[in-house]
Amino acid sequence: MSRDRYEMVVGLEVHVQLRTRSKAFCGCSTDFGAPPNTNTCPVCLALPGALPVLNERAAELATRAALGLGCKINPVSVFARKNYFYPDLPKGYQISQFDQPLATGGSVVIGKTADGKDLQIGITRLHMEEDAGKSIHDRYPGATAIDLNRSGVPLIEIVSEPDIRSSAGAGAYLRTLKQILQYLDVSDVSMEEGSLRVDANISVRPPGQTKLGTKTEVKNMNSFSAVERALEAEFERQTRLIDSGGKVEQQTLLWDATQETVRPSRTKEGSHDYRYFPEPDLRPLVLDVKRVEEAQKNLPELPDARRMRIAQEYEIAAVEVDQLMATPALADYFEAVARASGDGKAAYNWVMGEVTATLRATGGDLSLFRVRPADLAQLLNLVRDGTVSHTAAKRVFAVMVETGKPAAQVAADEGLSQVGDDGAIASWVDEVLSEHPEEAKRYMAGEKKLQGVLVGFVMKKSKGRADPKRVNQLLSTRAG
Ligand SMILES: [Zn+2]
Repeated sequence: MSRDRYEMVVGLEVHVQLRTRSKAFCGCSTDFGAPPNTNTCPVCLALPGALPVLNERAAELATRAALGLGCKINPVSVFARKNYFYPDLPKGYQISQFDQPLATGGSVVIGKTADGKDLQIGITRLHMEEDAGKSIHDRYPGATAIDLNRSGVPLIEIVSEPDIRSSAGAGAYLRTLKQILQYLDVSDVSMEEGSLRVDANISVRPPGQTKLGTKTEVKNMNSFSAVERALEAEFERQTRLIDSGGKVEQQTLLWDATQETVRPSRTKEGSHDYRYFPEPDLRPLVLDVKRVEEAQKNLPELPDARRMRIAQEYEIAAVEVDQLMATPALADYFEAVARASGDGKAAYNWVMGEVTATLRATGGDLSLFRVRPADLAQLLNLVRDGTVSHTAAKRVFAVMVETGKPAAQVAADEGLSQVGDDGAIASWVDEVLSEHPEEAKRYMAGEKKLQGVLVGFVMKKSKGRADPKRVNQLLSTRAG
């Protein structure tokens, strides 16, 4: 196995679009999906004489991201021109940061080592830059179209140390990083919309060797699992090449998802001579130390800390907390329900049960969901104090989803409050027994397992309002 004779060494470069309403250096909208070339102006079209002005919000979000990843913020950073020619880059250069980036250092914990220590992936640097436009090759036969809506959209690039040793490790790093950025609320982190993109640097070496092998760069992966598969394919290619006496050449490769293979990029990017120099149209970015301290103080609770707190505060198992943490909105919703109802376990069951099922079925968004946390908490309380049975609660919830009305009102309006009154339950039991004479006879004759079936009939007849405990008791007395 090549896996025993070679070690995989991976570093990742992650481009993340910052959640701003306007672009990095002009006032154009960053809306995704606008008609081509409509979100443009002289600055992002690179018309002569147009001058960039830094978007303050972009700098703020980039700083927050860097702080959340434990980076050291450099009080002075410098924008630089990264020169290259590409049809969707009308300026002929990209504004980026080079030798004086916004932030350096930092780390992401992706799990535990065999001896129980934190498994950390180092972050080399985090810098700000702008996005290029988009070339569209498949829309018009024989022609390439250019859409400059993305041109000038603010990005951060997060460069990891070559600390990753497996494709699974790369996947874990990306998933953890994505969740941190999500909880920091700095980006949509949507790979589908291109607001999170990954380039992977990979080399191989015999285990124990400290010197790094020659690396290749793999691009064009559109999901985290594609990154993992691309790394496996490139690892195999490099080890086979070395085993057969060849040498790995430094080059850029594109992942081909349909062929499950990598192929050399057609564009010549080998030399990487970007002739960086400081951007003369922008002054160095000087951050106010007080504002950076303020940002550090106001940093949102990070996923690891929140996971531990939720588990403790609401007495929920780790796997369940992970489900609730899927998005910050879901975690917020759960916590609001759990706090208002004082019952973490019930809140978990409802949020991961009815709430997510309803959202999935309707393709709905939690932020627009009609049942607000306080209303769901009220429903939980009605169930706990016995006013509404568990079965009826599901019907109450369905009506709440439709109408947005409070639980108590729905229960009253729909006549779904639980009936513990023996007279009503007894008559439902009688009706069921006479409507199902065969089952009734067998049950009376001692076939106890039919009790569940009969209880089900009674519950159905009562539209979920009968107290199942009383129904069971009454049936038992009938069986004598
Ligand atoms: Zn513009």
